[in-house]
Amino acid sequence: MSPADIASPIRSIVRRSPNIRVVLGAVSAVDTAARIVVAGEHRIPYDTLVLATGARHAYFGHDEWEPFAPGLKKIDDATAIRRRILLAFEEAALASDPARRRALLTFVIVGGGPTGVELAGALAELARKALAADFRTIDPRDARIVLIESGARVLGTFPPSLSARAARSLARLGVEVSLGAPVTACDAEGVAVGGQRLAAATVLWAAGVAASPAGRWIGATRDKLGRIVVEPDLTVPEHPEIFAIGDTAAAPGVDGRPLPGIAPVAKQQGRHVARTVLARLAGRNAPPFR
Ligand SMILES: Cc1cc2nc3c(=O)[nH]c(=O)nc-3n(C[C@H](O)[C@H](O)[C@H](O)COP(=O)(O)OP(=O)(O)OC[C@H]3O[C@@H](n4cnc5c(N)ncnc54)[C@H](O)[C@@H]3O)c2cc1C
Repeated sequence: MSPADIASPIRSIVRRSPNIRVVLGAVSAVDTAARIVVAGEHRIPYDTLVLATGARHAYFGHDEWEPFAPGLKKIDDATAIRRRILLAFEEAALASDPARRRALLTFVIVGGGPTGVELAGALAELARKALAADFRTIDPRDARIVLIESGARVLGTFPPSLSARAARSLARLGVEVSLGAPVTACDAEGVAVGGQRLAAATVLWAAGVAASPAGRWIGATRDKLGRIVVEPDLTVPEHPEIFAIGDTAAAPGVDGRPLPGIAPVAKQQGRHVARTVLARLAGRNAPPFR
């Protein structure tokens, strides 16, 4: 897929809304007393603030692994990962040392959640189908794709029947799934898992996410993923003028557990905040988010 097929500039999305101003910048702080957002040299005042800064991948205290095992979050990550994968096949085609060639054709994905399972499946299809006929000195179908999950099954947050089905699909695609042992080392040569070294030139990280630091900017209570714990109406406790939504918020669902970090939740919460702001302007109370 071309990046342009799945993303468009925010400016053009809101082109027809003259009351929306787009500012490119990275927010680094919020002064809740003065009601000001700080983004580089810009200080932007607000009456109502909506924090929707999402999440990023997390390395569970091993940030030094990031250069060796990039994660997939932004389009830039995706294009960089694609380049890394294609270059591994190219280098393998030129490698004369069999061990080096083997490592170049070994792809490790750390984390068997939705992102890891999808990545492993996409990689397998790339190797077994898209690239299969493009090389002469190697057979891309020989690529070894290993999905490492420390839990007992892939897609651990889904019902066991779906995990089993995903495992069968991965096996059919020729993906090796390693369960029950976490990765304990990660470097330019590969990974260590279950006390064994696995030589791999390409390691991809899909093992976890952490919320953006928005909670720290405003000194809010956060859960263990760093998400801002919000009230049922999506406001931050003691700050009715600040909303937190999407992946950076922990909003309770009907069962009291936090809603999952998926797009429908984020989009519905965005609409809910808009309705709440309009209701407040009209002097009405808004219902909680459902
Ligand atoms: C690989 C992958 C696959 C996924 N697949 C699915 C799927 O199939 N279905 C599904 O429902 N969900 C999927 N998700 C999850 C979904 O993308 C998120 O739940 C959703 O994007 C959350 O929306 P959000 O607005 O909270 O955060 P985001 O979409 O992450 O948006 C946050 C925005 O804030 C910006 N930002 C962050 N920090 C700052 C800052 N300091 N200053 C200024 N801007 C900042 C970011 O650049 C980003 O543009 C997937 C996620 C990933 C990573």
